[in-house]
Amino acid sequence: MYPSTIDFFINGRWQPSQDGRRIAVLNPATAEPIGAVAHAGVADLDAALAAAERGFAAWRRVSPHDRARVMRKAAELMRARADTIAPLMTAEQGKPLAEARGETLLAGDLIEWFAEQGRRNFGQVIPGRAAGIHQFTSKEPVGPVAAFTPWNFPINQAVRKISLALAAGCSIIIKGPEETPASCAELVRAFADAGVPEGVVNLVFGVPAEISEYLIPHPIIRKISFTGSTAVGKHLAALAGAHMKRITMELGGHAPAIVFEDADVEKAIAILAANKFRNAGQVCVAPTRFLVQEPVYERFVAGFTAAAKALKLGDGMEKETKMGPLAHARRIQAMEDFVTDAHKHGARVHTGGERVGNKGYFFAPTVITDLPLEARLMNEEPFGPIALIRRFRDSEEAVAEANRLPYGLAAYAYTRSARTASAIAEAVESGMMSINHHGLALPEVPFGGIKDSGYGSEGGTEAIEAYLNTKFVTQAAL
Ligand code: NAD
Repeated sequence: MYPSTIDFFINGRWQPSQDGRRIAVLNPATAEPIGAVAHAGVADLDAALAAAERGFAAWRRVSPHDRARVMRKAAELMRARADTIAPLMTAEQGKPLAEARGETLLAGDLIEWFAEQGRRNFGQVIPGRAAGIHQFTSKEPVGPVAAFTPWNFPINQAVRKISLALAAGCSIIIKGPEETPASCAELVRAFADAGVPEGVVNLVFGVPAEISEYLIPHPIIRKISFTGSTAVGKHLAALAGAHMKRITMELGGHAPAIVFEDADVEKAIAILAANKFRNAGQVCVAPTRFLVQEPVYERFVAGFTAAAKALKLGDGMEKETKMGPLAHARRIQAMEDFVTDAHKHGARVHTGGERVGNKGYFFAPTVITDLPLEARLMNEEPFGPIALIRRFRDSEEAVAEANRLPYGLAAYAYTRSARTASAIAEAVESGMMSINHHGLALPEVPFGGIKDSGYGSEGGTEAIEAYLNTKFVTQAAL
């Protein structure tokens, strides 16, 4: 049952905003209100800041061993509650129940991975230049974190930031997604129920720009982490830079998926179509620019179009649904604008290209070819169920197209040649490259982009560094 109200979590207590304001939450499958989330004003943010400051003072003194114990409990709670959390996510975000359940379960794995990484925040012993000089480094938590997480993965985007902060010994204020607040709140509840002390994890909602403008410059906040669009990321990075705050920016992409003539084309179609339309294409690492070598181009377009047509579109609550609605009305407008622009440029729409039904935010899985490079879709992240397919002659042409855009998040390639695979992995400018399968976003592997796709990693062994300061100590024997 979706909650009629979703509150903040500040200083260990669930609470509405001090002035009582709320924002409506809609079910994207019906466009009807299902609840209302608290809307923060300055007084609420001040309360969260004071709590985060106190929370940090307490949590940094908890040993990494004990922090990990509490975090592992939160992971267990997420797994145990997956069947009750998943319907909340589907109701507010639209993705099919199986995807929502998978996201909730993966949160358990992410929390555990980072909990264990927190126990390995090792420093170094550095040999001195003279007898009796003892030198070492230690890792200290950077301080209270302000994190901003979006609506496409209400749990997955927030859990990385919360787990990293906690594992490092930081406190955190999460500005959760207003469109999809209940599942994100359940994540915070799991940490609270696991025994995270008061003030260590705080959750607020409101007008994103108002909250970031207030929290980022605030002296209590020492680190910023943001997931969202490149345009907003650049704005927040500039603000953080002006106040000398550490940042992690996980931004947009426009992932090339390069299919060579020697690929297993049927396998490529099956994997790429599943990942293109997962979460209705609202995935920063979704394959979006399909570059296909000429000899297999027609076969790929026909197979991919058939896969798109076969997808069962519907309410994510229904068992047979394979693709749900878009998360909100803005994405429908964006898809319609992209398709209008594509038509203007003489593109060919093989399937889809329009809204489905007159209720909710459904948009048909869409396949478009013959787009000139100046069309908007060839330059802007679709962030929706639109696949663009383009032919190429040789590897050089494919690499030039892959690297043409300022983005550099994920990239994919399909080939049976080991030589082509290693050459393409080296040549494509991206933070992540997956060859002949879809292998991104597991807890133990790096997750992040380069160029306009952002800065820093939110996975693997290196992610926690962004939440730590290195302290150097040198001491002479008396
Ligand atoms: P948007 O650019 O307005 O917002 C994107 C996200 O940033 C939202 O979560 C929003 O709450 C947040 N945001 C916006 N302005 C902010 C500010 N001044 N301070 C702090 N947070 C702010 O667009 P939208 O309509 O919500 O989403 C569409 C675009 O966002 C997509 O085209 C896509 O590029 C991007 N997006 C990316 C991801 C991702 O996983 N990288 C997730 C969601 C959205």
